Amino acid sequence: MISPRLEKEKICDTEGCSNIAERSININKIVKSSLKLKNKDVRQVHLCKQHYKVVKKDTRKDVLDYIR
Ligand SMILES: [Zn+2]
Repeated sequence: MISPRLEKEKICDTEGCSNIAERSININKIVKSSLKLKNKDVRQVHLCKQHYKVVKKDTRKDVLDYIR
C-alpha cells in the first residue's frame, strides 16, 4: 500500500537522476541550462535540490552574459 505522502513526491526529471524532486521550474529555464531531461514534453520540470542548483547557476550565468 502506498502512503499518501509518497504519492505526492515527484522524482527529478533530469536524465539519470532518481532523487526526490523538491522544486518545479519552467521548461524555458531548463533549455538555457546544461541539464538533460528524461522528458521534454512538459511545461513544468521537477528537480531535486542538486539539479535545481545547477539550473540556477547556469541561468544566472546566462543573464549576466546577456547584460554584457
Ligand atoms: Zn536530480
